[in-house]
Amino acid sequence: MAVAEAYPTIAPGDHKAFMEHALDAARRAPSGPDKFCVGACLVDEDTGKILSTGYSLELPSDRPGDPGRVHAEHCCFVKIADQHGVEETRIGDVLPTNTVLYTTMEPCNSRLTGNKPCVERILGLSGAIKTIYVGIREPDTFKVVNSGQHRLEKAGIRMVFVEGEGLQDRILEVSMTGHGKKQ
Ligand SMILES: [Zn+2]
Repeated sequence: MAVAEAYPTIAPGDHKAFMEHALDAARRAPSGPDKFCVGACLVDEDTGKILSTGYSLELPSDRPGDPGRVHAEHCCFVKIADQHGVEETRIGDVLPTNTVLYTTMEPCNSRLTGNKPCVERILGLSGAIKTIYVGIREPDTFKVVNSGQHRLEKAGIRMVFVEGEGLQDRILEVSMTGHGKKQ
């Protein structure tokens, strides 16, 4: 866990390439009918340096004081916090000024399990992330209507959908791995 992962640097602004990186992470997520396989990465938008990468359930779900499945975005935050020895809510102190989040699926806004949704975690970073690049909207598989974009935009955080040839289809396919239909 303590071993620092090596992340590539991608040309700044190559949103599709960063999204492909997040999608590669999503492919490593354990699949099942009751969850989505999501990947995410935090990026220094000025340099293109990837700061951390995460995927659904990558980290153990028994973090002290914060039980429950760890979503991809949350995983990215935890890794930065651990790396710098700061609280998750304080990672804005150690992140570059223009840090952006790429995630294959829009951040969750409510969780059936009662865990803190990723939208709230992002809002809790006090402006450390001002832009979120998103692959696809959250499917309504779990009867969730995600109104997170509105909440984020009210707080001045942009949500930008990254379009690419076949990109959305591939993200959806990976997201729904293990759901037992399609494919
Ligand atoms: Zn989430």
